[in-house]
Amino acid sequence: MTTTATSTPAFPGGTILGYPRIGRRRELKRALEAHWRGAIDDAAFHEAARANRLADLRRLVALGLRADDASIPVEGAHYDHVLDATLTFGAVPARLRGRLPEGLAGEWLLARGDGDDVPLEMTKWLDSNYHYLVPELDADSTFALADSRIVDRFGEAGEAGVHARPVVVGPATYLALAKGTGIRPLDLAERLLPAYAELAAALAAAGATWIQLDEPALIADHDDATLTELQAIARAGADAARAAGLRVLLHVGHGDAAGRVEPLADAVDAIAVDLVRGTAPDVAAAQLVAGVVHGRNVWRTDLDAALQALRALAERGPVSVGTSTTLLHVPHDLAAEQALEPRLRSWLAFADQKVEEVAALAAALRGDEVDESAFAAARASIADRRAAPGVRDGGVRARLASLPADARSRIPYPERDALQRAALDLPPLPTTTIGSFPQTGDIRAARARNARGELNDAAYAEVLRAEVRRVVELQEELGLDVLVHGEPERNDMVQYFAEHLDGFAATEHGWVQSYGSRATRPSILWGDVSRAEPFTVEWIAFAQSLTDKHVKGMLTGPVTILAWSFVRDDQPLAETADQVALALADEIADLEAAGIRIVQVDEPALRELLPLRREARPAYLDWSVRAFRLATAAAAPETQIHTHLCYSEFNTVVDAIDGLDADVTSIEAARSSMEVVDALAEHGFSRGIGPGVYDIHSPRVPTRDELDELLATATRAIPERLLWVNPDCGLKTRGYAETVESLGNLVEAARRARADV
Ligand code: GLN
Ligand code: ZN
Repeated sequence: MTTTATSTPAFPGGTILGYPRIGRRRELKRALEAHWRGAIDDAAFHEAARANRLADLRRLVALGLRADDASIPVEGAHYDHVLDATLTFGAVPARLRGRLPEGLAGEWLLARGDGDDVPLEMTKWLDSNYHYLVPELDADSTFALADSRIVDRFGEAGEAGVHARPVVVGPATYLALAKGTGIRPLDLAERLLPAYAELAAALAAAGATWIQLDEPALIADHDDATLTELQAIARAGADAARAAGLRVLLHVGHGDAAGRVEPLADAVDAIAVDLVRGTAPDVAAAQLVAGVVHGRNVWRTDLDAALQALRALAERGPVSVGTSTTLLHVPHDLAAEQALEPRLRSWLAFADQKVEEVAALAAALRGDEVDESAFAAARASIADRRAAPGVRDGGVRARLASLPADARSRIPYPERDALQRAALDLPPLPTTTIGSFPQTGDIRAARARNARGELNDAAYAEVLRAEVRRVVELQEELGLDVLVHGEPERNDMVQYFAEHLDGFAATEHGWVQSYGSRATRPSILWGDVSRAEPFTVEWIAFAQSLTDKHVKGMLTGPVTILAWSFVRDDQPLAETADQVALALADEIADLEAAGIRIVQVDEPALRELLPLRREARPAYLDWSVRAFRLATAAAAPETQIHTHLCYSEFNTVVDAIDGLDADVTSIEAARSSMEVVDALAEHGFSRGIGPGVYDIHSPRVPTRDELDELLATATRAIPERLLWVNPDCGLKTRGYAETVESLGNLVEAARRARADV
């Protein structure tokens, strides 16, 4: 057996690259919201945030990370780690320069906006469901160490007895993720780098020995010139830290680092890479932090396989054990899930369990303290999972194996279109909404009381039916053409489906930060998926019974269900997506049987799961489109299938959108002045299209002129017979007052446009 015992590794034997920050019981979320409400003052907020950070540090030591050698990362953003970098380096957007308030008020202004001061834009962090605040840079942007939070948190950890490793977004990634007005953000590197040098000097003065520079941008898809430029900026950032006397851990994560980090090996002391989704780069000059424990999923690590991989790597050079990414994207602790079925629970590892896995692997790699029981337990769990009932369901598999040849195709669109026009009898420019209506405090309160057992199911259902009735009446009064039931019964568009399909489990405390104080509780897709009985039909049919207009059935698509769940890792995603698709096909058949003529299958996450690397995209787009088609193709040709996508920046997926073969596609467009419409027209898209004319992301009511203009733009590019009139997205987060007014304006605008054409 080979071990690294002869050469003491420069870097700790085991580490994680980051840890959840919202708190084991969402303490940080509560502190944020209390401060925003004015219920606690600045001092109380800072104390709550500090207590939360210290609790995490203590927990990490208790779980087996060393407290004295920079094994423990310290980051601990209040709202977002990219915002922390923006504040640290004083990168105030031009529009707020000179008037950004000090302290928390300024931080919240950037994060949440206030009146005319809009917040920084929010975008998803690489291929995750975490959203960061996009830095806004321009020709006058300057950078300097303007805020001491990163240094302070290092010091705070020290006081608690932990010699920690400060973490900061590296300069290449900071600039690559920024938005530039009149400049190319990467051109600001020379200005930005001295601020990193200042930060490094301050950290060194405070006693830090290591710094972690997160540079995941090195992994994304770039042309060669840009990649070289990013590498040079990352190198300069590392040089600045080393010049201050710090050692540098370069963390990339998020996919294959091979071919991306080798040129940086001599500039840094250690490199952390994702070995779950990627291969090991040859970086002999630096210590390799081998990310063998999955940072993005919740399944137990195959410790035997991981140790074998680590030992093989150790023959090439110094290796330590790491997670494949930060643990920010998984919940805190499985121990909190006492209601989870014990057998399923025994297959899982949340953040804390992953820390223990890292510690067990590090000990075994060192060749001492091998915790045989940890290895034996992992081995047993993996074997048990493979053989457990429900993981493989013969019926589901047989059905998928014997799909008819036409299982993914409908008759040609022109023929369907003729049948649907005859069957549906809709006016030109039909108006509709995307599905949800405002989720009022009353509905949420009723759901919470029902969950606590204070409101029985029948009474809860009565509350929901009353809401459906109200929403249907409102839509009739407003004069909308295709109605919805409003989705009041859904806590979340994925969780609701997970709760009603076999093969899924829900957690009680498995919260994962989505942005700021918002967290989602992804379901766990652990087994073969099927549907025991219809679960949306009752609601849609009830809504339909209240009106002569068409009510649209409302389903969440297979890709979105996968994207927003923790998905089994023992078979290709394509297979899992097809299983979900068949369950949805069953639901569509039951909706049709109940007399529903229009069904919408939402795929807002289609773009989100798109691989970062170009070469991986065709395969992804192929299986995701095929799954959608499997879900929808069995519908009768007269049944009109809608889909809804939540983004306007979709150039990379326009072929896929076309490939979905939906009869009507609604898409975000209001904020980007209908750009999407031209792109679709250019592509020759020739099925129904509803570019959102009302931006639901803001409480603003769109004016008559605005709507007329957006519709006019749309009609110039798209034949009127294909055009639908609808908002950008669901209305769930809006209030009723502005919704009623906005939809009223929308219906009026459609009527005026009809008169014109
Ligand atoms: N039907 C969903 C809703 O209206 C769609 C949500 C979404 O696109 N994210 O809420
Ligand atoms: Zn949407």
